[in-house]
Amino acid sequence: MPSRKLEDLHPDLQPLARQFLDRCKAAGLDVLITCTWRSGAEQDALYAQGRTQPGARVTNARAGQSAHNAVIAGKPAARAFDIVPLVNGKPMWDDKHPAWQTAGRIGMELGLNWYGRPGAPFREFPHFELKKGYL
Ligand SMILES: [Zn+2]
Repeated sequence: MPSRKLEDLHPDLQPLARQFLDRCKAAGLDVLITCTWRSGAEQDALYAQGRTQPGARVTNARAGQSAHNAVIAGKPAARAFDIVPLVNGKPMWDDKHPAWQTAGRIGMELGLNWYGRPGAPFREFPHFELKKGYL
């Protein structure tokens, strides 16, 4: 199982993720963290989806290439987390819903690289990543 624990994020990303959750709450938006860290094996399983396995393609990254696979001294230190907004207590997967823009704006105000923004390397609305420059 991929981790949903904030403790499995990069040390610089942990406080930002907590602030993100606090600010979303203050804005009246409930969000669920769906993934922080995932192992290389879990990454490869995800990569296989839509290629050699059934389902839709959800990633272009193989094991070790995703910000979710990052480690420091062998311990999980993910450089990204994924979220889904909760609307009336239910996950809102439709990325045209305005809750996504609220979450994205809050993440960007905290200096995170939100992949739902126009002009992102690829559009991935749930994905918030630590900017380059953090060790
Ligand atoms: Zn992600």
